[in-house]
Amino acid sequence: MKLVFATQNSNKIKEVRSLLPSSIQLISLRDLETGEELPETGRTLEANASQKARYIYDKFGLNCFADDTGLEVEALGGRPGVWSARYAGPACRTEDNIRKVLTELKDVTNRAARFRTVIALIVDGEVYLYEGIVNGRISLEPSGTGGFGYDPVFIPDQESRTFAEMSLEEKNRISHRGMAIQAFISGLTTIVKERWR
Ligand code: IMP
Repeated sequence: MKLVFATQNSNKIKEVRSLLPSSIQLISLRDLETGEELPETGRTLEANASQKARYIYDKFGLNCFADDTGLEVEALGGRPGVWSARYAGPACRTEDNIRKVLTELKDVTNRAARFRTVIALIVDGEVYLYEGIVNGRISLEPSGTGGFGYDPVFIPDQESRTFAEMSLEEKNRISHRGMAIQAFISGLTTIVKERWR
């Protein structure tokens, strides 16, 4: 079975490729030679992931999946959520996003937050959604140099270190994306078994 991963992020492709069963041939957007930005105008992670997967499915007629991730801070009513990448503005840097969250949480004692990843899979036109969540809290200040995005200020539950202070393996074992990929792979395996028995 051929499956397109609708992302321009080569790290994500590598990560997922290493986890998929060998019966799945993973195709990247680079293989399809489409350098275009995927549409991402939804108001939820589910809508965005589905929109990206649907775009590629409609354009190429190939089974496809896409992901979308957000940091959801309880005291901020779930923000930045679906706006995590550009929280501090359209051309902002990661440091700007982190500073904005820390400023908004200044003097706030409830620092509960979670990362949530949604994966939308389209097989023969049918959409399947998978989710991965890691609960934690926002630290008082950034710490660590690993990872990316909000990792320096996110401390997962049962941990005293931020994601940015962990090795990639440690993070992947408990992360939102790791959980979503596991749910996706087990769902995909079931779909493949049922359809191609
Ligand atoms: P995307 O949907 O995977 O592109 O993620 C959207 C935004 O969420 C990114 O630009 C990051 O700011 C943030 N983000 C996603 N995954 C992570 C993560 O694992 N750690 C920290 N920040 C993340």
